[in-house]
Amino acid sequence: MNILVLNCGSSSIKYQLLEMSTDPKLVAKGIVEKIGLPTSAFTHVPTGKDKVSMEIYIPNHTVGINLILKALINQEHGVISSLEEINAVGHRVAHGGEFFSESTLINSEVLKKIRLCSELAPLHNPANIKGIETIAEVLPKVPQAAVFDTSFHQSLPEKAYIYGIPYEYYENLSVRRYGFHGTSHKYVAEKACKILGWNINEKKIITCHLGNGSSIAAIDGGKSVDTSMGFTPVAGLVMGTRCGDLDAGALLYISEKENLSVQQANDFINKKSGIAGISGVTSDFRELHAAIGKGNERAKLALDVFCYNVKKYIGAYAAALNGVDLIILTGGIGENDFYVREQSCSGLEYLGVKFDAELNKTIRGVDRVISQTDSKTTVMTVTTNEELVIATDTMQLVLKK
Ligand code: ADP
Repeated sequence: MNILVLNCGSSSIKYQLLEMSTDPKLVAKGIVEKIGLPTSAFTHVPTGKDKVSMEIYIPNHTVGINLILKALINQEHGVISSLEEINAVGHRVAHGGEFFSESTLINSEVLKKIRLCSELAPLHNPANIKGIETIAEVLPKVPQAAVFDTSFHQSLPEKAYIYGIPYEYYENLSVRRYGFHGTSHKYVAEKACKILGWNINEKKIITCHLGNGSSIAAIDGGKSVDTSMGFTPVAGLVMGTRCGDLDAGALLYISEKENLSVQQANDFINKKSGIAGISGVTSDFRELHAAIGKGNERAKLALDVFCYNVKKYIGAYAAALNGVDLIILTGGIGENDFYVREQSCSGLEYLGVKFDAELNKTIRGVDRVISQTDSKTTVMTVTTNEELVIATDTMQLVLKK
């Protein structure tokens, strides 16, 4: 079964075509970028063939998706002979609000609810909806599924998702913690348990998804019970360009001093803060290390703040879970940056962590235990694959139909 996975962002569309079997294969992947800008571009990477890149004006998501579909069946760099070979389409949908605690096939009722959630994710859900509508138009017979970033965290208890603001704002405006990166947290926790031969229902796990956007989740018996992102993805850890946890009073103070509009304040906390804001040089961890190598002290400070944040959340979630059996590091940083892993897991001996610092230095982009064999708490790096989760969920929903 061939499944097209679409991740429609506000100005980009990432896609993968996967051939699903017991051993799923990536058939092609690519990205449409900077939609609506004169510098928009399209990159298509067919497995086993040359990559195709073009700068071409892509005014909207509909044009972008049609470009992708054409590339998939192109004589030269295509990977299938006709669009009929696409059996289903799985969409990454940013926000499912309180409607969706699992992935679902899309029908008009589901679409209506995704639309209702647009208020909660005004940049992302409308883009997801455009993706769904375009596919419905071009491939009307192909089943579509929605896989939500938020659904895994719908199991949070009330005490973990209610904010300390008047309760009416939850009742009337749905303001609460939702959490994101759900597909990744669920996937790496399940994958690690499979590798370790553990029953996830009996385990307490802390998953750290560390990438451009970063979040941590506390998972008890396979269910998310707390997570660091909140009403929006700006909460929790300091991230590439997002501020993470910030005293709401500080934002009010800065907004008043700088005379910021709501839009400017939004840009401030989402695009100008985090590692980029502290270091003043970059949001990218590879570049951050390079700057530190050249003696940049603010870059070093940014890295220290990040690792301290991760460690603090691990401690908090160990408290929430009343102990922890497994700490997982994933995402571009968690999978590759041994310094971040070491710093974030240092001083956790009180939790039963005996970190293997030597082994850790040699590990990059693989699934591997990085604690010592007699460590009471296991630490692991696990590679994430959100597209695979989306394709797998989509396939299962289609087969159940
Ligand atoms: P996204 O949230 O966009 O999916 P990723 O999970 O791809 O992000 O993570 C991107 C981050 O991972 C960047 O900060 C990047 O520098 C970092 N990263 C990727 N490879 C390495 C590496 N080898 N060493 C350190 N950091 C890395």
